[in-house]
Amino acid sequence: MTDATPSCGYCPHCGATIPTGFLLITYDAAGERSAFAECPDCESVVTPADGA
Ligand SMILES: [Zn+2]
Repeated sequence: MTDATPSCGYCPHCGATIPTGFLLITYDAAGERSAFAECPDCESVVTPADGA
């Protein structure tokens, strides 16, 4: 049915799509949802950037 890999955003460093499986933690800060994820490409812990 769904062929697309679920992603939680893009790495702000290298631009790679970050699959949801790479999410480490999500949290609410000042009313905004934020998250940390490990980039599968550059292996940095980043805050995923939303794609347009
Ligand atoms: Zn990256």
